[in-house]
Amino acid sequence: MKADYDVVVVGSGPGGATTAKFASEAGLRVLLLDKRQELGAPVQCSGAVSRHALLENEVLISDEFIQEAIYGFSIYHSSGENIQTDYRLLKPEEYGNAEGRVPLGYVVDRRRFDRYLMTQAERHGVEVLLKAEALDMQIESGLAILKVRHFNEELNIRCSVVVAADGLQSQVGKWAGLQTHIKFTELASCLQFVTDGVEADGLLEIITGHKWAPGGYAWVFPKGHGYTEIGLGVICSMTPHNAQQHLDQFLKNSFMKERFKNAKILEVQGGGVPLSHPLRTQYANNLILVGDAARQVNPITGGGIHTALTAGRIAGKFLAQHLQNSSDFSAQSMSQYQDLWMAVNGKKMWELYEIKSSIFRMDNIEERDQALYKTMSEYFSPNSPFKKI
Ligand SMILES: Cc1cc2nc3c(=O)[nH]c(=O)nc-3n(C[C@H](O)[C@H](O)[C@H](O)COP(=O)(O)OP(=O)(O)OC[C@H]3O[C@@H](n4cnc5c(N)ncnc54)[C@H](O)[C@@H]3O)c2cc1C
Repeated sequence: MKADYDVVVVGSGPGGATTAKFASEAGLRVLLLDKRQELGAPVQCSGAVSRHALLENEVLISDEFIQEAIYGFSIYHSSGENIQTDYRLLKPEEYGNAEGRVPLGYVVDRRRFDRYLMTQAERHGVEVLLKAEALDMQIESGLAILKVRHFNEELNIRCSVVVAADGLQSQVGKWAGLQTHIKFTELASCLQFVTDGVEADGLLEIITGHKWAPGGYAWVFPKGHGYTEIGLGVICSMTPHNAQQHLDQFLKNSFMKERFKNAKILEVQGGGVPLSHPLRTQYANNLILVGDAARQVNPITGGGIHTALTAGRIAGKFLAQHLQNSSDFSAQSMSQYQDLWMAVNGKKMWELYEIKSSIFRMDNIEERDQALYKTMSEYFSPNSPFKKI
């Protein structure tokens, strides 16, 4: 039996599109498919990503997807006390909006960002199918057979390796028998409003404290054109209320309520974020997992764009190198991807998971609030050992 492609990537989010681009660039025949008809929509992301994350993963910075430049952070305790790190003040010779200065990061429009990444992949030779949903995967004679519904047509596509980049609700890993279950106690339920009428000035504002967002945090991010994202994530097992009730409470009763009094809600966006450890096994025969599908999400911040881009780069390069030199697609050979990923990102993510778990094991809410505030402040401080992930 002959393969139709070397690699089929399921899911064209940041993880999948990046994997596809790097694999194709190195000469592999790659198919990238996504069940959506419009990538990134409906939006389920605030879109905050560091400049470093884009550069490190060879994403050219483009006005096509940037909504707002970010210059630093303001981290709040539940009481309103805060620590601000504004790189425009800290390193004015490097950061700012004047000629020769750069931002620290961006808020991107996920619809445009995901389309941009997919287009870059396509321009590097990747074939793309939208409205193409993977339904099942089987292994036959050493190849993966992916059953796909493209519009109303069913296709059976043969390839050497499938990349599961199908996000939080990943099914592909399950089909291969991997343990992909997320504990209810580690799944943050997130909701955000895109608003008009709320001031923000180039900083990502993060509001910690059980009172506002049990198990997670609230945020205020500038969105460009005078719009602002106000949102939060909560762990449902830590509260009898849902994310919407918490967001309502935060808008009406928090120390920021005066600032929110003229807020007009323009869009409502939501989704789940895994605040768990990375999957212990991110590979199987003819399969590797990338991004949210492998729970490669920062368990302290919930950020998953940088980690998905980085995992995609590692996966694409690994596949290119491996498939050009070997026809062994066994789980054992695929495990080398996880080894590479562990060395670059995985070890740090496990450390962050341990830190996060030790905070949320504390029974005393005041002590826990203080520990989370301190951890978040340190995480976003200029000296943080973690700030590059
Ligand atoms: C409210 C909210 C706010 C967030 N804010 C931020 C933030 O500010 N910064 C940050 O870094 N992260 C943020 N995140 C997390 C971030 O959105 C994810 O971690 C990131 O999108 C993961 O990228 P991915 O490529 O792994 O998966 P996704 O972006 O989820 O992409 C998966 C793709 O797979 C496709 N797919 C799924 N199943 C199939 C199938 N069977 N067949 C074909 N296609 C399929 C989907 O359509 C989708 O396009 C936020 C998340 C939420 C919910």
